[in-house]
Amino acid sequence: MKVKIGLETHVQLATKTKLFCSCSIENLSEAEPNTRVCDICLGFPGSKPVLNKKAVDIGIKIALALNCKIHREFFFSRKSYFYPDMAKNFQISQYEIPLASNGYLIVNGKKIRIKRVHLEEDPARIIHVGKSITEAKYTLLDYNRSGIPLVEIVTEPDIESPKEAREYLKTLMLILEYLGVFDPKEHLMKSDANISLEGGERVEIKNITGFREVENALNFEILRHKNLLKRGIKPERETRMWDPVTKTTKSLRKKEEEEEYGYIFEPDLVKIVLTEEQINAIKQSLPEMPQEKFEKYLSMGLNKEIAFTISSDLQLAIFFESLLDEFSPNQIDSWILVLKKILNYNDVLLSETKLKKEHFSLLVKKALSGEISDRAFELILREVVFYPEKLEMLLKEYQKISGEKLKEIVLKVIENNKKAVEDYKSGEEKALNYLVGQVMKEIKGKGDAKEIRKIILELLNG
Ligand SMILES: [Zn+2]
Repeated sequence: MKVKIGLETHVQLATKTKLFCSCSIENLSEAEPNTRVCDICLGFPGSKPVLNKKAVDIGIKIALALNCKIHREFFFSRKSYFYPDMAKNFQISQYEIPLASNGYLIVNGKKIRIKRVHLEEDPARIIHVGKSITEAKYTLLDYNRSGIPLVEIVTEPDIESPKEAREYLKTLMLILEYLGVFDPKEHLMKSDANISLEGGERVEIKNITGFREVENALNFEILRHKNLLKRGIKPERETRMWDPVTKTTKSLRKKEEEEEYGYIFEPDLVKIVLTEEQINAIKQSLPEMPQEKFEKYLSMGLNKEIAFTISSDLQLAIFFESLLDEFSPNQIDSWILVLKKILNYNDVLLSETKLKKEHFSLLVKKALSGEISDRAFELILREVVFYPEKLEMLLKEYQKISGEKLKEIVLKVIENNKKAVEDYKSGEEKALNYLVGQVMKEIKGKGDAKEIRKIILELLNG
């Protein structure tokens, strides 16, 4: 059954101040509620919004990175509705002419069209105190959030599965991180998801935080729609909410149309006119995007999987490139993968470790010269990412055993494993691997399997 999904994603922008006033939003999570507010973001009579130019620049940056057409002239509109999270009873947003439109994003080789990118203000935070929203004893409002610049990124319904929706959001976040406009630890990314199945109406699921939750909510909706359709009931057009605790969606209201919000031109803000130079200057300042890095790595001779892994982690990509003045790409790519594996295992970013370029570079040199084994490289790196001061000591401890010293140990192992030796001599190849394993065990992995195998064969056949 054909599934059509479109996403509207709201991203908080990393500016110093709010979108239409000078209230600071730096370290907002540490601020007492309702202390970062003023006449403008509280919508007092007579107050007039002043547009934050920095937010417009960031919006343009994002739109360009998403291959959009920038509108040289655009304006803001009032989206009217009554809800306590908007003290003015309207939200300043963009409707008729957004900042940008008609872009696309490549997700795993597939083009997902971006319909529009626009700027708007975040509403206040609502905290329902009580068991649930419907059984709340009372509700608290924190207007610190009111007026934070948001960029809304709207796709066409090109997404065909919940998994693809998650992949799209991951790719989008990576791009925002590359642009330096989004810090996943500081900022929120929320999505509204539109979904329809063949034969049913479109349903909107509001305000889902996080990628996995978007995937979960969509999976639930697909199941719900399929069950309705099976019983001959056509899913209705409506707005629903996702409850991450019960893992279900609940109906909020019959879907209203955008036009019903009664958009009107915002008279307190002038029309914004961008110059070609202004847009070009931002275009010039754009960093290399993940897709570009991926292609660059392929052209360096990295395989697809490694190129993708490295370009999907900005910090790792920068680290990798910084090592290219000492090593060729193919000399270090597999070691970078080992590092990525360790980061994943510990669920940390590179910046959360203590690993420096010089530590990694030294380890790679020891591995390339054969002083330590591949296995030892990984064992040492596991420690060094958090305790780099142990590097020297660990290098000594894991120094590879080879040559005469290794031969002595192999001899001992052969003497202690007569049965395996006989088995090998009577044609059992497996017995050879067993002997190699026994030697490895004896030297705690500090040797080269190929060399051990060679010595065993020499001793047994010679
Ligand atoms: Zn303010």
